Amino acid sequence: VTAAVDATPWIDTHEHLIEERHALSVAPYEFAVWRGVSEAVVPGWVRLLQGYAMSDLISAGLPPAAALRVAADDLDPREQWELLDPFLAACRSTGFVRAAEASALRLFGLPLRADTCAEIDAQMRALARPGYYRATLRDAAGIERCHVNSLDADPFCESAMPDLLQQDLSLVPLVLGCHPSLEERTGIDVMTLDDYLAVIRWCFERYAPRAIAVKCPWAYVRPLAVEPTADPPDRAFLRLRRGEASATERRAVEDFLFDHCIGLATAHGLPVKLHTGYLASNGLPALRHLTTHVADLVDVILRHPHATFVLMHMAWPHQEQLLALVKHFPNVVVDLCWAWSLAPLAAVEFAQRFLTCAPATKLLCFGGDAVTPEAVVGHSVLARRGLAAALNGLIDRAWLTEAEALDLVPVLMHGNAERLFPAPRTG
Ligand SMILES: [Zn+2]
Repeated sequence: VTAAVDATPWIDTHEHLIEERHALSVAPYEFAVWRGVSEAVVPGWVRLLQGYAMSDLISAGLPPAAALRVAADDLDPREQWELLDPFLAACRSTGFVRAAEASALRLFGLPLRADTCAEIDAQMRALARPGYYRATLRDAAGIERCHVNSLDADPFCESAMPDLLQQDLSLVPLVLGCHPSLEERTGIDVMTLDDYLAVIRWCFERYAPRAIAVKCPWAYVRPLAVEPTADPPDRAFLRLRRGEASATERRAVEDFLFDHCIGLATAHGLPVKLHTGYLASNGLPALRHLTTHVADLVDVILRHPHATFVLMHMAWPHQEQLLALVKHFPNVVVDLCWAWSLAPLAAVEFAQRFLTCAPATKLLCFGGDAVTPEAVVGHSVLARRGLAAALNGLIDRAWLTEAEALDLVPVLMHGNAERLFPAPRTG
C-alpha cells in the first residue's frame, strides 16, 4: 500500500498558491487579505516556515516583531536562524515544522538545521525560476493539478496556468455586502440591495463557468450558523453601506447574501467549500466559535439539499462530530486538506474512522493549504505517509484486505475529486 500511495498522483483540492510570477520575485511579495491583514511571501529558506510553522513558533514565544524582522529578508540566513532557533527547537515535532523539514529534504536532500540553512537558502532562491511551479508540483509533490483559493486576486484569479491551478470563486468578502474592486469592475453603481445582487450575478456569470468550486472562509470572522431571511434585508443593507449597521443587521445581510450565493453555486454545478475547524495564525477572537462549527452547519445543509458541501480541514478538533454529519447527509463531503500537518495523528485516526463509518466516496484526501509550491511539497510527503499509515493500520486490524486498501488508493487520491468537482474547464 505504501508503494501504491507513493506512486499515485494527487488531485490537490486546496491551496492558496500565488501566481508563479509573484513567487519568482527576489524581494518579498506583499499583498492584502480580505480580513484586513497583509501577507508577505519572502524568498529564501524562511519561505518554508511562513504561515503555519511561524505561527507555531509564535505560540512557543517568538515575539511577533522578530517574525516580522525575519520576513523582511535583510538578514543573512544564519542571523535569521539565530532569531528563530530556540522557538524552532521547541516546535520540532509539530506537523507544521515537520512539513517544512520534509520540503527541504525532498527538494534539496538537506535536513533543516543551523549548518544547512544557508545552503537551503541558496537553493531555494535558485529553484524559483520560470517553470518551477509545474516541475515542483508535478515532480516533487506528485500532484496532477491543484484547486487554488487565491488570496491576492479576489474573487477569482485569472491564472496563467489554468490547467494546473484551477481556481475557486471566493464568496468572502463578496457576501459581506461590500466589494469595491469588484463593483468597479462591473460598472454597477450600487445604491440598493438589488444593485448588489446584480454585482453578484455578474460575478457568477463571468467566473463560475471557469471556477472549480466556491469557497467560503468566513469562519475567520463569525460563527457558521446562517439564519434564513423571509424578506430581503433592504434597509439593513443600506445601513451597512453607510457604515451604520448593527451587528444583527450586518449578520442579516451576510446570511441573506450567503444563501443567495449557495443557490447560484448550485445552479452552476459548483460544490461549496466551507472552512471548518481550527483557524490559522495566532490570537483570533473567532476561535471561540470553533466549538459550534459542526452543529451550526446542520440547518445550512438542510436548507440547501441540492448543494454539495465540502467541509474542510476535518473540522479539527471536532472531527468526530464531523463524522456524524458526513455519514448522515448525502450532500456532505469531507476534505482532509491542511489536516496532515495541522494535526497529523488525528488525521490518520480520522481517515481510519471515516472509512469504517462513512462512504469512501465522500472523502477528499489532500490539500496543503499553502501559498507557495515549496510548502506544498512537504505537506504532500506528510499526507502520503499519513494515508499509507491509515490504510496499513486498517489492514493490520483485519478491517480491510490488502486488495481492498489498494482499490481505495486511487479513489481517495484523485477519483473522488474527479467525480465531485466539475471537469477541467478553460477558455
Ligand atoms: Zn485555506
